[in-house]
Amino acid sequence: MLIGSEPSAAARPAHEAECPVGLACRFAPAAYARTDPSDPDAYGDYDRADRPRDGDDIRYIVIHDTEESYDSAIARFQDPHSGVSAHYVIRSSDGQVTQLVHTWDIAHHAGNYWFNMHSLGIEHEGVLVDGARWYTEAMYQASARLVRYLAARYHIPLDREHILSHEEIPGLTPGGVAGMHYDPGPYWDWAHYFDLLGAPLPTAGVSAAPVLTIVPRFDIDIEPLRSCVGEACTDLPPQGSNVVYLHTEPRADAPLVGDPALHPDGSPGTTRVADWSARAVTGQSFVVAGRSGEWTAIWFGGRPAWLDDPPGRVSAPGHGALITPRPGRSAIPVYGAAYPEDSAYPPTIPAAAVVPLRYTIPAGQVYLGVERGFADYYYARFDSADAQDNHTLVVGDRRLVEISFNHRRAFVDAADVLILR
Ligand SMILES: [Zn+2]
Repeated sequence: MLIGSEPSAAARPAHEAECPVGLACRFAPAAYARTDPSDPDAYGDYDRADRPRDGDDIRYIVIHDTEESYDSAIARFQDPHSGVSAHYVIRSSDGQVTQLVHTWDIAHHAGNYWFNMHSLGIEHEGVLVDGARWYTEAMYQASARLVRYLAARYHIPLDREHILSHEEIPGLTPGGVAGMHYDPGPYWDWAHYFDLLGAPLPTAGVSAAPVLTIVPRFDIDIEPLRSCVGEACTDLPPQGSNVVYLHTEPRADAPLVGDPALHPDGSPGTTRVADWSARAVTGQSFVVAGRSGEWTAIWFGGRPAWLDDPPGRVSAPGHGALITPRPGRSAIPVYGAAYPEDSAYPPTIPAAAVVPLRYTIPAGQVYLGVERGFADYYYARFDSADAQDNHTLVVGDRRLVEISFNHRRAFVDAADVLILR
């Protein structure tokens, strides 16, 4: 997806914010500097690129919250030792926007380099357990104006498959999944945000469709959440959230489903705010696995998971491609990135590891396909590093399908699956 009218990076103004007209917006550059004179690969806080002209297209916008103040988030992104950055940060009190990284460069915001390669990251000042106290109307409105502008410029669809949260980004390796962030968390009002984007999410309705979209009513469907430090937990005050809980069986007292990364001992999921095991979120879509009375099972993380789904209450008919393991396969691997096969790399560029996560998809299960494409990897080192083929996009023959897998996205090899429709 190349945009012919985009000027090359060299021709663009270096210190002008990329924002819609009328939005309070300024540019304050993130650090781009080496951090260890003896190590040319030690640098922060982002990678230079020329997206999308260099072939690395911008497909997603990732929504975050800072977990610290606006000023300290900006200061962190201006310290090369932090190693992290975002394209934009938005202030809670009035919606002021600070851009730190140009959209054509790759910010280090998602904790997953493949998603960084293909996304823009927007941080919102806030602390997710405090939710709505930080997520002000001024901030929602500024963010929505910015996202509309960016989506139009880069032809990013205004849907939940492409406007996603940090908590939906998968880990790159089995060991990395448990540490993935879960912002902006349960108190981000996706339905309101998509209203402001001019692309309202569907409203709840009854359907026999094979795909459903999660659409609880933010202020009405109150779900329990707890905040814990170690084993000391407190119940968070009842308030609107984007959460629907998933159970192992179709009844309210059945255990919550437990994710193997967070519960390697097989124990159930919990209502801890940090435990995303059993949470489906507003705007996410899944394939129906079964129905029992007013309960509906969806395929979720390699198992059926049940949600309390009274008619017209928390789900709407969804749509999309249906993906299932090819006949003859008992289970297929699941990945956290769409990196190329080793043979796609020239000898000058070290290959990014292709590592299956600890999940599999057993035969017979069906997941929603989000995107399909060739595997790719943007090789970038510090600009002046003595690295051959620095800033090169490697594209493989391997094709992957991005799926709505559990609380997070995942990838399966196109060779492993059939697309049912
Ligand atoms: Zn984040």
